[in-house]
Amino acid sequence: MTLQVQGKQLEDYVKDSRAEFESNLKKLVDIPSVSMDPAHKADMVRCAEEAAKMIRDAGGEAEIVQTKGYPCVIGDFKSSPDHPTVLVYNHIDVQPADPSEWKTEPFNMKIDGETYFGRGTTDDKGPALTVLYAAVYARQNNLPLNIKFLWELEEEIGSPNFEAFLKENVAKLKTDSIVVSDTIWISRERPAIGYGLRGLQGMLVRLKTGTKDVHSGLTGGLARNPVGELAGLIGKMYDPKTGQVTIPGYYDKVRKLTADEEKDFVKSGFTVDGFKKAHELHSTRYTDNLEGAKRIWAMPTLEVHGITGGYTGPGVKTIVPHQAEAKISMRLVPDMDPEEVVKIFTDFVKKEIPDAEVLREGTLHPYVGDRASAHAAAAKQAMTDAFGVEPVFVREGGSIGAVVSMKNVLGKDAIFMGLSLPEHGYHAINENYDWKQTSGGIKMFVKYFEAVSKLK
Ligand SMILES: [Zn+2]
Repeated sequence: MTLQVQGKQLEDYVKDSRAEFESNLKKLVDIPSVSMDPAHKADMVRCAEEAAKMIRDAGGEAEIVQTKGYPCVIGDFKSSPDHPTVLVYNHIDVQPADPSEWKTEPFNMKIDGETYFGRGTTDDKGPALTVLYAAVYARQNNLPLNIKFLWELEEEIGSPNFEAFLKENVAKLKTDSIVVSDTIWISRERPAIGYGLRGLQGMLVRLKTGTKDVHSGLTGGLARNPVGELAGLIGKMYDPKTGQVTIPGYYDKVRKLTADEEKDFVKSGFTVDGFKKAHELHSTRYTDNLEGAKRIWAMPTLEVHGITGGYTGPGVKTIVPHQAEAKISMRLVPDMDPEEVVKIFTDFVKKEIPDAEVLREGTLHPYVGDRASAHAAAAKQAMTDAFGVEPVFVREGGSIGAVVSMKNVLGKDAIFMGLSLPEHGYHAINENYDWKQTSGGIKMFVKYFEAVSKLK
């Protein structure tokens, strides 16, 4: 049996699901599962329980698996061990929300026509629930595919326990392919499938040249100035006008973009003007659209987040500071190795300022999947069929630690089939999601599941 011959039925199924989808989304959104805030501990448990119940009510098996932090929910819509398996990752924890800034209550979902307002509607409870409705349809039609759900509750705090959780539950999570539905399209008119992420390496450089701040009249001219020395060091590490990093060997491992990748970056419709507006920037380092897209998706960076040290109060206090600290991080791209980056960074600092201390902060590895795989082709076709527009393949500038962990532990690439739009307000006030993306999304995932059931 194929679902294509039941195209009409799918259309009806989606329409008939609307009221129930909206009431279920409200149930999830009304639970303030703010992982960042310890005051919401009980809500986290309640959210996991409600989610597991929803999976069971939909005809799947569900289990709440404890971790050292908040639990994960594993859902299972079994077909047969002989059939392929797809694992769909979403997260159901959310960012905090300040009710005084919102036009509706963030944790009391309001429906306005086709739009759903509330914290977590688009990031990522709405997309999670959308996939669940597609799984129900696939299961009811006996699609020869096992569909597993993995819903995390610590994504917004950097997935600190996720890799350990995966390692302890490898058998339960065994899969042939992975889908992540937690990304944003370029615009409503331009669906996007992500296949790459940047990594991150944090560093801290500390310089102490004495035990206390000293008087610039008495000591100035002879005493060293750590704030000045760190500023000079940073100036030698990169050209702040262009962003180009000048640490020797920094770009050696950067994977060159293929002609097809560049073509998709152009087709994505990304513009520097739109970017400036979206992020309220007065000006940018580059004005060319392709160069801009490359700089945020496919090139590594070095950024200074802050320099501390010296006197920053009102007026002038004529001291020579005795210590300073620079907080720096580098966004990494394939095939850069964080270990090598830490080494060349440290060597560079030590050569310039031998008595500076270099401390390593957190590491996230860069990630790139295969955009030419059968699963990527299936995703592209499913998105085109469901939304009537061909998607582009893009990379993401940020990092999703969970994706690299799944690749490491489960051994499979992930494909990012997100449903969120820029106007949905990811992490912002008045976050929302809508029926258009839901109904299209259910169809997209049904079509994707159908295609994947034929791959082995
Ligand atoms: Zn998210």
